[in-house]
Amino acid sequence: MARAREPREGPPVTVPAASTAPLPESSGLRILAVHAHPDDEASKGAAMMAAYVAAGADVMVASCTGGERGDILVEEATAMARAHRDLAGLRRAEMAGSVEALGIRHRWIGFVDSGLPEGEPLPPLPFGAFASLPLQTTAAPLVRLVRSFKPHVIVTYDENGGYPHPDHIRSHEVAVEAFRAAGLAEEYQGLGEPWNVSKLYYDRGFAPERWEALHEGLLEAGLPSPFGERIAAIRAELESGTGRAARHETTTRIFVADFLDRRDAALLAHRTQVDPKGFFFAVPSTVAAKAYPWDDYTLIASRVRVSLPESDLFTGLRDGVGEAVGLSEVPPAAAHPGAVDASVDDSGH
Ligand SMILES: [Zn+2]
Repeated sequence: MARAREPREGPPVTVPAASTAPLPESSGLRILAVHAHPDDEASKGAAMMAAYVAAGADVMVASCTGGERGDILVEEATAMARAHRDLAGLRRAEMAGSVEALGIRHRWIGFVDSGLPEGEPLPPLPFGAFASLPLQTTAAPLVRLVRSFKPHVIVTYDENGGYPHPDHIRSHEVAVEAFRAAGLAEEYQGLGEPWNVSKLYYDRGFAPERWEALHEGLLEAGLPSPFGERIAAIRAELESGTGRAARHETTTRIFVADFLDRRDAALLAHRTQVDPKGFFFAVPSTVAAKAYPWDDYTLIASRVRVSLPESDLFTGLRDGVGEAVGLSEVPPAAAHPGAVDASVDDSGH
């Protein structure tokens, strides 16, 4: 993959801290992205990760579950015998393709997919599934991973999971717990030397301004936009305070225009989960690169001094890597959002 050298021309939308310059050299810096299922790393922040890999950073994805309770979501894939015989094994192979496309490292945390409960009232979670186990049990392997990989930054979902699936909400909770406790010698003993992660970010892929910019970009390019209803639904969720609407302001925009093709390749690796003609490919990367060439995040907690907004997840860490220069915030307690509205559910998971 080529790394852009020259800043691009300014984009047509105005957003704060909207850098259009390549990321600074990032050798020696590490990002850990915590995800629920294989394919989530491709649909949330994939271009960001590829951009940091190109900048020299060490990027690792932790998949909390193996996606064992997923369905075959792509019509063409129903013809694949292995998809019926061994979907879990096939999803591991798909994940390997995504990891290769992004140039990242990957670890399976090893819990079993909880599935998406449906019905009224919701049925109990399957015995032993990821989201059914105590928080400390599910956080322990992630704490061990943090203490060995020593990330400077953890990226995960917001309190609503970004998508109302119990495994996504639990992934948020274990990531927050690992950020809080991995540096504490008196907690999670026997899982390695304590390591303080410097910054914690939540993904903001559902930010309405992003969808609006992509919607406008499609119309300007003379292409149909499927996002009208989606934008209205996100706006309604924001106003009513329900659903998966992002609760946090964007603090950090990462310029990813040159890495949208990597994201597409990672998505396409998940052949049973991501339809090549579907939602994720509604915006050609040439249109996205012009209309909204960023992945958005919220800085939730930092153990290094920063000033917001930022255009780099490692802001505050480039002088004296990993040195904590003062605790600026206590990370929030992992939240249980209660009932969530799954009515807008075209995002994959
Ligand atoms: Zn998922």
